[in-house]
Amino acid sequence: MAYEVLARKWRPKTFDDVVGQGHVTRTLANAIEQDRIAHAYLFIGPRGIGKTTLSRILAMALNCEKGPTTHPCGECDNCKGIAAGSDMDVIELDAASNNKVEDIHGVLDQVQFAPTHSRFKIFILDEVHMLSNAAFNALLKTLEEPPPYVKFIFATTEGDKVLPTIISRCQRFDLRRISVGDIVRRLRLICNAEQIAITDDALLAIARGSNGGLRDALSALDQLIAFKGTDLTEADVLAVFGLVSREALEGLAASILQGDVPGILRTVATLDESGKDMRRMTAELLWHFRNLLVCQQAGAELAKQDVTAEQLAVLEAQAKLAPPQRIVEISALLSEMEGKLRAALSVRTLVEMTLIRCARAAKAASLDDVLRRLTALRDQTIRRLAAAAPQGPAAAPAAPRRAAPAAEAPRQAAPTPPSQPPPAEEDDLVADDEEGYAPCALHEPAATPAGTAAPVPAEPLQSSDGQYIDEIVNVTLRLFGGRVLV
Ligand SMILES: [Zn+2]
Repeated sequence: MAYEVLARKWRPKTFDDVVGQGHVTRTLANAIEQDRIAHAYLFIGPRGIGKTTLSRILAMALNCEKGPTTHPCGECDNCKGIAAGSDMDVIELDAASNNKVEDIHGVLDQVQFAPTHSRFKIFILDEVHMLSNAAFNALLKTLEEPPPYVKFIFATTEGDKVLPTIISRCQRFDLRRISVGDIVRRLRLICNAEQIAITDDALLAIARGSNGGLRDALSALDQLIAFKGTDLTEADVLAVFGLVSREALEGLAASILQGDVPGILRTVATLDESGKDMRRMTAELLWHFRNLLVCQQAGAELAKQDVTAEQLAVLEAQAKLAPPQRIVEISALLSEMEGKLRAALSVRTLVEMTLIRCARAAKAASLDDVLRRLTALRDQTIRRLAAAAPQGPAAAPAAPRRAAPAAEAPRQAAPTPPSQPPPAEEDDLVADDEEGYAPCALHEPAATPAGTAAPVPAEPLQSSDGQYIDEIVNVTLRLFGGRVLV
């Protein structure tokens, strides 16, 4: 018997077999059960996720000798003919190569004749967005009111190129890319049935490389079996497809999160020297940080839809290494690099520089940290002021030594002494800065025991110094500008 590729041999034959498109199969099955079958369906989605398969299963469900049924038998002549693409009443047309108005006239001619042996005459038009405008228009009238025995099923990878007048006459279904977890489960089932020994990491690598398309994943598996036989490891997959191993990728992410620049440079050198595709690696690293963010923000329950159990354990551990703001910033840098890689002359240098920036971003002080330290400093100074201030009624506040605009006090700041007078004059902030930054004892220990000789500056601080430190907070915010995340 002639060899049949896995994608064809394992093509789903019932709605239950279709992977990752539950929202579509459920609706179609309900429509069949309730006898509310529309006359035209439109399946939209990227390649290799099951549009043609779903079209054929729907055709079988409608025309099965035991139907219409949600579980076509797969045994009757109609089912077998449809599965093999040879049924007279199910006409499959590739609109990419039959896109002229004459081709559609050919279809319309056939519409006039009732089905020869089935319940319905079904037209499956693949890549329907390729039809010319004239062809679309020729179809409109019939699509609006076809004979009761005619059903249309359209499939396309580019839904936005299909005329709105066509879409409005169809029931539209948007098919999803299949999650990595779903692809791994399906591959495992097929490998077990085909008696192929393959590790989980190898299956994961195939799923990662297939971009959410099950057909691509099965084609890759076929290619690997041809290359290596029926005993496959992750290294085989990586060698054939130039992918980076999961371990290397997770190690690189850990180096970034820990600010380990030498580690980053070593990993990049190893990957580059072993001929790995840096663009692919960047896309996968970006996906890893995306999963990390999902894990942090939405919890493991949501993250595990796209990863395996081993990956999830790593994600949970790495999620503790940096706050979400840092992960967002790293993702933005990686995403920016992805755009530049296409035009880069030295890909490795660009990757190294960007990953070092990522590592620095992971370890940079956040605005929250700066605010926390400055607020603590200000409170400490106010406490010191209160301890050093002369006791008695003569301590009426004089005009502030350094006035500052009061309007810009930060939100997080602790309350300043209520007895403060409004600033008497608007000093130039920049002029004050030069003298003002020096005494900021950021690293001084906190409490000085009351009554001992506190390190008070030569000029005793006044109550307006609380405001002065507010000003330092504001200036610091401005200095950090866009480089610190709020
Ligand atoms: Zn059947």
